[in-house]
Amino acid sequence: MMIKLFETTNNDVIVKKRKPRKCPKCGGKVATIFYGMPNFESLQLQKDLEDDKIVLGGCCMMEGGPVWQCVGCDTQFYRELDLLKLINQVASQE
Ligand SMILES: [Zn+2]
Repeated sequence: MMIKLFETTNNDVIVKKRKPRKCPKCGGKVATIFYGMPNFESLQLQKDLEDDKIVLGGCCMMEGGPVWQCVGCDTQFYRELDLLKLINQVASQE
């Protein structure tokens, strides 16, 4: 069964249970996507950005949207739990 849940900018959609240590495609670092308005005066935020611990994902989080992103090739990773929740929601509305 194929469910098209979101529009994605590329076809590289990978679903994981947990945050992967390394990107399975390029071996790059995987960062957590930060949603919302970042506080650029936050030293912790600056450090996390420099360390590639987080990447900025835009102002609003799409429900069931990607949670992690490779800093090397921009491959996005979805959390399995989020997708299951979303699928259950869709199923219960129909
Ligand atoms: Zn990668």
